[in-house]
Amino acid sequence: MSLGAETLAACGMTWLLDCDGVIWLADTPVPGAAEAVARLRAAGERVLFLTNNSWPRLGDHLAKLEQMGMASGPEDVVTSAMAAACLIRPGEKVLVIGGPGVHEELEKRGAELLEPGRCDPREAETVVVGMDLSFDFSRLAAATTALRAGARLVATNEDATFPTAAGLLPGAGSVVAAVATAGGAEPAVAGKPHEPVAQLVRQLAGEVRIMVGDRPSTDGCFAAVLEVPFGLVLTGVTPADHGPVEPPPDHEAPDLAALVDALLGS
Ligand SMILES: [Mg+2]
Repeated sequence: MSLGAETLAACGMTWLLDCDGVIWLADTPVPGAAEAVARLRAAGERVLFLTNNSWPRLGDHLAKLEQMGMASGPEDVVTSAMAAACLIRPGEKVLVIGGPGVHEELEKRGAELLEPGRCDPREAETVVVGMDLSFDFSRLAAATTALRAGARLVATNEDATFPTAAGLLPGAGSVVAAVATAGGAEPAVAGKPHEPVAQLVRQLAGEVRIMVGDRPSTDGCFAAVLEVPFGLVLTGVTPADHGPVEPPPDHEAPDLAALVDALLGS
């Protein structure tokens, strides 16, 4: 699929931008990304940042975007924590294995949060698992007890790793795998490429120009779920010397700046 510059100039549409590996690597900005976002906005395009990272609060994401020269509003960010909260009903008793972002979104939803180590896990109706930098055996044991007592399992996302400037680190998917194995449960997954976050994006994004990401198994599959083009960039988990990827991208560029140049016309 090819998008001509004349088509792009016709009307503003939404660019869905994955964050880790596209605009930043953990706390390191991807060179040229801020300028690319500014160029999109100047061209009348809307940017919606879409991250499977459930750890930070929304305010943390916004502060980081501003610090890196991509100042944005709360309506410009969708996280897997938000998508997971959509799977919870107000008042539901939830044992949380996750960080501040998951807690914040579940609180906004009106869930009753149960903390591992400070509750009887058997009271939980649901275990929500996200990125958890404090994950340890006792938290795994609490989740296991809850699941073995009949709680359902909701995962923010299944990414096994996430890219940093120092290489790949364990992602939420690695925590989810441990909990699912010990608890003998199948997770309902909220983040890319799954349906809960697709529903959120359909509500918030309007007409989508392209989904840009570094990981075909999540970002490419998510583009397919939304039936929009997939733009692969090589600043994250997919190396420059990669072989065939699945699904194959509609567009590929070394980085976001090059992709924007190619589609807007340099
Ligand atoms: Mg990524």
